[in-house]
Amino acid sequence: MKICGMEKFSMVDFDGYIACTVFTPGCNFRCPFCHNAALVTGEAAEIPESEVFDYLNKRKGLVDAVCITGGEPTLQPDLKDFIVRVRALGYKVKLDSNGTNPAVLEELIGEGLLDYVAMDIKSDFETYGDVIGVQNAALLDRVKKSVEILKSSSIDFEFRTTAIKEFHSEKNFAAIAEIVRGAKKFFIQKFKDGENNLTQGLHELPEEDAKKFLAEVQKTVPQTGLRGY
Ligand code: SF4
Repeated sequence: MKICGMEKFSMVDFDGYIACTVFTPGCNFRCPFCHNAALVTGEAAEIPESEVFDYLNKRKGLVDAVCITGGEPTLQPDLKDFIVRVRALGYKVKLDSNGTNPAVLEELIGEGLLDYVAMDIKSDFETYGDVIGVQNAALLDRVKKSVEILKSSSIDFEFRTTAIKEFHSEKNFAAIAEIVRGAKKFFIQKFKDGENNLTQGLHELPEEDAKKFLAEVQKTVPQTGLRGY
């Protein structure tokens, strides 16, 4: 599998576990607030897969899990093979996804290859295209399908939204609350502006607003929280 980065030791990517996080290149979204621009545009340098497995072989028992993030990992044709090899070493696997590949998600969940999924809900479906920087109804249908797959599965998962002052309002979050209704967990993540972002000059949602908007989602999801605030 193509890998363009590895964080060897993370205590924040998979709640309750020490994780090694790997970053895959390429994405079918162009979220202006994306903080992994080089991954999305293909400018990030690839590292050999063998480097990751050498590390995982040495760290057995010291690291619990591998988080696969991107970019969008489900665009990798050999994602499943990679996960099978990681699991064979005894690691748990968490997948981060934008939800545009429901068939892959369904297959991985169905075969018991994932321990946790974190799926982004970028906004309500009315404004989704603006927030992801791509207007594509077929992609949006696939996101909706992934939402349903996760909700009807028994896997441990979360939905999450990176909140941007320019994009998100209380009204958006009222609609997001309906999208995620029935899920167990939802988080609002703090946005950080920076030179690695696809677009500069956007702003984080103030904490006060984030708390207010989170209260909207609390009406439909029992476990909610702020991340990074
Ligand atoms: S934020 Fe995620 S979904 Fe959006 S462009 Fe970046 S990697 Fe893709």
